[in-house]
Amino acid sequence: MLDHSHDAGFVVPSVAPAAERNMCTDCGLSRTARAGSCGVACQFIQPDYPAAETRIHGRARDITRGDERFFGPYRAMYRAALTPPAPGAQWTGITTRLAQKLLEDGAVDAVLCMGPDAQDRWRPRPVIVTDPARMADVRGMRMGYAPLLAALEPAQAAGHKRIAVIGIPCQVYALRAIEAELGLERLYVIGTPCSDNTTTENFHGFLSRLTDAPDTVSYLEFRADYHVEMRFDDGTVREVPFLKLPLSDLPRDFFPLTCRTCVDYTNALADITVGYMAGTGAQWLIVRNARGAEILDRIKDEVTLSDPGSAGKRAGSVKGFAANTARAAGGLPLRKMPDWARGIVAWLMPKIGPRGLEFARARVEMKAVETILHLRREKPKRMRTMVPDHVWKLAEPYDLTPQDGER
Ligand SMILES: Cc1cc2nc3c(=O)[nH]c(=O)nc-3n(C[C@H](O)[C@H](O)[C@H](O)COP(=O)(O)OP(=O)(O)OC[C@H]3O[C@@H](n4cnc5c(N)ncnc54)[C@H](O)[C@@H]3O)c2cc1C
Ligand code: SF4
Ligand code: SF4
Repeated sequence: MLDHSHDAGFVVPSVAPAAERNMCTDCGLSRTARAGSCGVACQFIQPDYPAAETRIHGRARDITRGDERFFGPYRAMYRAALTPPAPGAQWTGITTRLAQKLLEDGAVDAVLCMGPDAQDRWRPRPVIVTDPARMADVRGMRMGYAPLLAALEPAQAAGHKRIAVIGIPCQVYALRAIEAELGLERLYVIGTPCSDNTTTENFHGFLSRLTDAPDTVSYLEFRADYHVEMRFDDGTVREVPFLKLPLSDLPRDFFPLTCRTCVDYTNALADITVGYMAGTGAQWLIVRNARGAEILDRIKDEVTLSDPGSAGKRAGSVKGFAANTARAAGGLPLRKMPDWARGIVAWLMPKIGPRGLEFARARVEMKAVETILHLRREKPKRMRTMVPDHVWKLAEPYDLTPQDGER
């Protein structure tokens, strides 16, 4: 049984155990009375993005329009920063501020999102927030499977009919699949991109390889300038270039197959996606529909917006990644490079590697390549139903096309 605690405005609901499922990120659905819907609601079984995009945004992505082939349907994209940034936020705190403003304005009765476990700050726990001030408590990113949708039933039982949900793509896919059955008066979906998640246990193992004081790490982020930033409880900050990360002794299955084969990096079914990949050091907003525009408009005086930049060329990086992934045969795609060369490349990458939108396109293409290579190796039977057409399109320039029975 999970811990069950609450105070005014911030409820940590008690949730049922997860049902046994193959290829499951425990989005929370299997812990509810709708567990039987996993077959149609799961991103990992037979996702139908064109139908879902049409239902939610009024149209499916148009791969001839702007960057939709990479990032899904959108009305506008911005480089953005909450000004001033919110303390404790993962970036500047736009995500939690959007939801907080919906509560302040009375547009929603509750926000469902992931807060930190009382004993382990890196372990995500579903929470129901009704006091706007308490949104400060959920700022920041936590690693691990996060049963967000398990908060739906307790929220409904508490009488909340207008809600906002903050979620990552696999949670949002399932939420959208059951949305019509929930009988809500209003639902706002604020999404973040997501990639390379792992279990909270694995993440602790990673932290202990990075530092002698893993319990004092308060923040970690894989930044778009090819560095990992770590912050510690005593205020110190450490930046480690990706190429110098101690990855070679991580277990081969450090990243579960689900997160290596996830087909929706940028959260195409959210009303608004709040990430950082194309933000060149700031945040990156993808406004997908009228509701997303409405949410952003509510905080327009608090955000600095500009056009996202783009520089460099991604093709070489993605090709190299594809070759390394194929060679690693299911493990982590590590480059064999002498240590002295790693230092130089680590210094060069932020200067010459793809940046801004080109960096985000590169990451989305890498994810598509990874999905196909890993599924083909480990779960070939799933390919026909699990890999959407848009993922095949993204992988095509890298000589990855459907083989017999894969489409
Ligand atoms: C595992 C993971 C991987 C990510 N990878 C990328 C990436 O590759 N590229 C990218 O652009 N962005 C990624 N993000 C999103 C990014 O970390 C930031 O959350 C986002 O940019 C918003 O920053 P912010 O300052 O606006 O968020 P804040 O205002 O600090 O709010 C963070 C929000 O994230 C929610 N949250 C925290 N942990 C989880 C979780 N495990 N599951 C669901 N929700 C959670 C919190 O409830 C909170 O609402 C990832 C997020 C996660 C959880
Ligand atoms: S819908 Fe959610 S709970 Fe069900 S199998 Fe998929 S990830 Fe797991
Ligand atoms: S990488 Fe994909 S599957 Fe894994 S937790 Fe993130 S959204 Fe879910």
